[in-house]
Amino acid sequence: KEVTRSYGLDKVGVVGTPCQMQALRKGQLYPIGLRDVADKIALAVGIFCMENFPYQGILQLVEDHGATALENVSKLDIGKGKFWIYTERGATVQLPLKVTHKYEQPGCHVCLDYVANLADISTGSVGTPDGWSTVFVRSGKGDDIWAKAIAAGAFETKPIDSVKPGLELVTKLANDKVTKNQKYLESRATEYGVGKALRNPYI
Ligand code: SF4
Repeated sequence: KEVTRSYGLDKVGVVGTPCQMQALRKGQLYPIGLRDVADKIALAVGIFCMENFPYQGILQLVEDHGATALENVSKLDIGKGKFWIYTERGATVQLPLKVTHKYEQPGCHVCLDYVANLADISTGSVGTPDGWSTVFVRSGKGDDIWAKAIAAGAFETKPIDSVKPGLELVTKLANDKVTKNQKYLESRATEYGVGKALRNPYI
């Protein structure tokens, strides 16, 4: 909103998690407080997301569990069943995911979208070898921009069925997220006692 109003931009690209893509599409469908913003969204790029952490949680994971000052971190990653901390000076710290679970945002446990279904283009590192990303083009707008980027030589591409671990792993993780979080949604709707259950946001 601010970039269109304060900076007068007519074409805005948005990169975000699947839930941010949902919020963006909701804002475009029901532009309450967002008049003249919805039609300026030129591209929405969604990133794969299994769960996320609030800033305080990241701080505890990196500084307390990882014994690393946050200002020295160059990259954080989740992969191969571990939480990875990379530092500016080349050190790598890994934490088992069982340590990270309690720091996850509670809202992520009711989230059913791993692959940013509502984005124009969604992408993530799962399914492809190190250094590559999996890309799904999901809309006409995404297709148009992706075709132009390929024609301009901006990306090197390969069909996903020619690489390992491939689409199978993306599908597995997307389904695992739905199954796990559906179970939590159902338990949450029934297990807190009569009249105290938490609403299932999907029904
Ligand atoms: S897992 Fe959490 S951060 Fe990721 S898309 Fe869902 S709600 Fe958003």
